Amino acid sequence: MSSNEPKLTVVGAGLVGSLLSLYLARRGHTVEVLERRPDMRRETLDAGRSINLAISTRGLHALRQVGLEEEALKHAIPMRGRVIHPVKGELAYQPYGKDDSQHINSLSRGWLNQFLMTRAEETGRVKLRFRQRVTQADVTAGTLTVLDEATGETREVRDAVVFGTDGSGSAVRQAMQPRPEFHATQEPLGHGYKELTIPPGPGGGFQMEKHALHIWPRGAFMLIALPNEDGSFTCTLFLPWKGPLSFAALETPAALEAFFQEQFPDAKALIPGLVEEFFARPTGHMVTVKCAPWRAGGRTLLLGDAAHAMVPFYGQGMNCGFEDCVVLDSLLAKQQDWDEAFQAFEKLRKTNADAIADMAVENFIEMRDSTGDPRFLLEKGVEKVLLNAFPGEFVSRYTLVSFSRVPYRLAYEVGVIAGGIVAELSQGLTRPEDVDLDAAAKLIRGRLTPFMKEH
Ligand code: FAD
Repeated sequence: MSSNEPKLTVVGAGLVGSLLSLYLARRGHTVEVLERRPDMRRETLDAGRSINLAISTRGLHALRQVGLEEEALKHAIPMRGRVIHPVKGELAYQPYGKDDSQHINSLSRGWLNQFLMTRAEETGRVKLRFRQRVTQADVTAGTLTVLDEATGETREVRDAVVFGTDGSGSAVRQAMQPRPEFHATQEPLGHGYKELTIPPGPGGGFQMEKHALHIWPRGAFMLIALPNEDGSFTCTLFLPWKGPLSFAALETPAALEAFFQEQFPDAKALIPGLVEEFFARPTGHMVTVKCAPWRAGGRTLLLGDAAHAMVPFYGQGMNCGFEDCVVLDSLLAKQQDWDEAFQAFEKLRKTNADAIADMAVENFIEMRDSTGDPRFLLEKGVEKVLLNAFPGEFVSRYTLVSFSRVPYRLAYEVGVIAGGIVAELSQGLTRPEDVDLDAAAKLIRGRLTPFMKEH
C-alpha cells in the first residue's frame, strides 16, 4: 500500500475521524481531514451533540492502542452504577458491574475531540482542514467536491481513498445512495433530547453522587445526568416530540416549570437555569441508521455514525466507532489491498453494528421504564448475585457490552440466554440474596456454558 500511495482523505474530524486519522498516520500514511465546522480549539461552537459521554472498555482499548488512554482517564469521572430518582421516596442504587472495578467513565466530548485532533496533528502526517464541507462525492472514483465555507469557493479532491466519518447525516453515505446495490434505512426515534445543567454546589462540589449516572425514569420519558470535571452535571431530558407530555406541550416557562415540579422535583431544585437553558438550547434528534454496503470498491469506506448511527441509550455510539478504528487498523496490518481490507472490515463489523443498534433501542425501554420497576430491580439484584457467585461462568449482556470486547452480536445472543436464566430464577423471589444457587448452577451450566463454548 505504501508504494504508489494514494491520497487518504478523511471526511469529518469528529471523534471517529480524528481517531482514525491518528491510526492511519501511525501506519505511515499521510492523511488530509476535511471538517465542515471551524476549529473548535480556536472558536466556541454552538452546543452540538452532547456535552459529555460515557466511554467504556471498547473505547478505552482504542485510546490505549494509540497511547492516549492514560491522559484521557485523567479527565474522566468513573460512574460505578445508576442512581434512580423516583418522583417521591428513596433513591435506589444499581451497580453496573460485579464490583467497582467495572465502571463506565464520564468524559467531555469537546475535550476528547480536541485532544484527538491535536494528537493526530502532532504525528506530523495529519493535516486538518476546517470549514471544508464535502458537498458531493463520486465514491468509486474517490472524487470529492469540497466547499470552502470561509471563501465560498468549491474545489475537487481527486483519486483519493475516502473515509466517510461525517456522522449520522453523512454526505459520503448519501453519495452512495444511487448505487443499485446500496440500501439504507433511517429510523428516527419519536423522542428528542434537550441538555440542561446542574451547576457545582457553593463550595464547587458535586450536588449529587459524583460517581454515578443519575436516572429519573418516568415511563414514556426520562431525565439522566452525567458528572463533569468542574463539579457540574449535564442533564439530558428525553421526551416525545408530540403528545400530552412532550416537547410540543412545553411551550411556555409556566408549563415547563409545572412539568419539572411534578415529574422531577429534586432535579428542578438543582437546575437554576431551567427556563433559560430549555428555551435557548436546541432540541436534538436521534436516529438509527442501518445501511450496506459500507464501501465502494477500494475507494470509499464508511465508519462511525456515518455507517451505523444508533440511539444513545447504551452509551456505545462512540465506543463502537472507536472499535471500528481498532478493527480496520488490525486488518490494514495484514492486507496490502484497500478493497480487501474494506470488504473484510464490513464482514466483521456490520453484524455487530446492527446488534448494538438494536440493543440501544431496547435499552431505552429499560432505562426510561423498567429501572423504576420493582421486578426489574429484583432481577438486576439476582444478576449481580450470579455474576459474583459464578465468575467467568455467568455473564450479563450489559457486562459484555460495556466491560469486554467480545463482538456485540455475541453479547446480544448471550444476553437473551442470561436474561432468561435470571427471569426464571427470580420467579417467586422477594430478595435477590435468596436466589437458589444450585438451580442457578444447573441453568448456567446447562444453557450458557455450552453456548459460550460453541462461540
Ligand atoms: P460525529 O461525532 O457526528 O462527527 C462527524 C463530524 O463530521 C463532525 O465534526 C461534523 O461537523 C463533520 N461533518 C459532517 N458532515 C460533513 C461534511 N459534509 N463535510 C465535512 N465534514 C462534515 N456514544 C458513546 O459511546 N457514549 C455515550 O455516552 C454517548 N452519548 C450520546 C448522547 C447523545 C445525546 C448523543 C446524540 C450521542 C451519544 N453518543 C454516545 C454517540 C456519539 O456521540 C456518536 O456515536 C459519535 O459522536 C460518533 O462519532 P463520529 O465521528 O462518527 O460522528
